[in-house]
Amino acid sequence: MAPMRHITFALSIALAALSTSTPTAQEKIDRDIQWKIRREATDNSQILRTLHFLTDVYGPRLTGSPNLKAAQDWVVKETTTWGLKNARLEPWTFGHPGWVNEKLSVHVTAPVKDSLVTEALAWTPGTNGPVTAQAVQLITPAQPTKEILTTFFADNSAKVKGKFVMVGAATEVRVTILTPQKRREDNEVRAQYDGTGPAGGFPGGGPAGPANPNVVPAAQVAEQLDMFLVTAGAAGRVNDAGREHGQIRAFNNRTFDVAKAVPTVVMRNEDYGRLARLMAGGANVELEMNIVNRTYPEGATAYNVVAEIPGTDKAQEVVMLGGHVDSWHSATGATDNAIGCATMLEAIRILNAIGVKPRRTIRVALWSGEEQGLLGSQAYVKEHFGMVENPKPEHANFAGYFNIDGGTGRARGMSVFGPADAAAILRQATRPFEDNGFFGVSATQSRRRGGTDSTSFNEAGLPGIGVSQDPIEYNSHTWHTNLDTYERIIEDDARQSAMVIAAAVYHLAMRDEMLPRIPKDKMPALPTP
Ligand SMILES: [Zn+2]
Repeated sequence: MAPMRHITFALSIALAALSTSTPTAQEKIDRDIQWKIRREATDNSQILRTLHFLTDVYGPRLTGSPNLKAAQDWVVKETTTWGLKNARLEPWTFGHPGWVNEKLSVHVTAPVKDSLVTEALAWTPGTNGPVTAQAVQLITPAQPTKEILTTFFADNSAKVKGKFVMVGAATEVRVTILTPQKRREDNEVRAQYDGTGPAGGFPGGGPAGPANPNVVPAAQVAEQLDMFLVTAGAAGRVNDAGREHGQIRAFNNRTFDVAKAVPTVVMRNEDYGRLARLMAGGANVELEMNIVNRTYPEGATAYNVVAEIPGTDKAQEVVMLGGHVDSWHSATGATDNAIGCATMLEAIRILNAIGVKPRRTIRVALWSGEEQGLLGSQAYVKEHFGMVENPKPEHANFAGYFNIDGGTGRARGMSVFGPADAAAILRQATRPFEDNGFFGVSATQSRRRGGTDSTSFNEAGLPGIGVSQDPIEYNSHTWHTNLDTYERIIEDDARQSAMVIAAAVYHLAMRDEMLPRIPKDKMPALPTP
């Protein structure tokens, strides 16, 4: 591993030099169009209407679920009404059934009576009616070897049979003293995106400690624990949400197979802690659960949604914009990422409404399977473009993909995969939006997949453009939590993002040349997974 890190370091120095050198010629900015964009965005915003349908009407939008399919069908219908062309669903293979939680109630029935705040873990089974059973706590050994794990399961098999199993100690969540920053300071953002700072390079690979080959990897422990609870006949499982103020993040059973898990809920830390303290005090804690979950085999085929403004003299070249439309299931997924979809749909709606005739085709794409590992955008890039090492013909005609996925905060800057010139071009095109708090574009040369869908394009050697936003309450409250609802959206922020993105998309759709790319011989190698 060590020699690899040296190579990466040397490469990033070389690329940093490459990306801070060349000055860029003056870009022709269409001020008239930018004025029309601002006026349309201000006078006729459809952002809240789109948000309402994606969240209140169709949310949550878990990949493979009928809700998500209905949301996608609505987008096709709506964008067609707006006058966009070629609106359609493009299938990709998810390979797992869809899953929906329809009903959930969890109560403590002894030694006190109370309702408890929980969310179901996705792709786990329901209870088949109300089930009452004693609760037990199970603390799994840290970093177990195969032998330790086998002994642990054998010793605890009788203990969990017929019981609700609270897995793990209650997390001690400290009271937050310093509240997180909701908007970034202008000077800090300007310094990051004005092109004078260091280029965004490879993510730093910190030195990893020597791995003990006898330790069972955490993912395998989790999977074996699930199977143990099934075979030992546990009545259900309770996980601690481990967050403050009742926040719950509920993800999924990693196997996506309801037969490989017991009915499972994630409980708010306050309730989990209370039950754990009652048990520690010697009480016999009894819970009642009633969960209705359903699976949908047709979810094995999932979809991305696309719609276009066809280009004119360069119609075969494509500028894309989008974000993921799938969400987690414990809320309606407003900040992650209905608002991103509403913003990108608004940007292309504005361009269409003001009657632009773009030279290149402008295509909006809303992905699914993002939350399970960027699956929709990965499938799309593979299908349409291929990798830079093994490209399809469309790879050469790709003019950039703008992605937004950071909550409700307004766009403050962007990062483009490519040379410094690519960032400089976009910086000039967006400079008139400094009054919206947008302060520039930086370049990155990282092909590492992760975080969000723009990296599926970066990985392929294509100009993925990630929009960076004010945090507002994203990381502190709404991201992946049960609090991610319509109420958390700041319309004005999304409107300002839509304006600057529409202007940037239009610029790339009109300029004589596509964005400059990193030349093939200087393209960084694919990072090791
Ligand atoms: Zn997201």
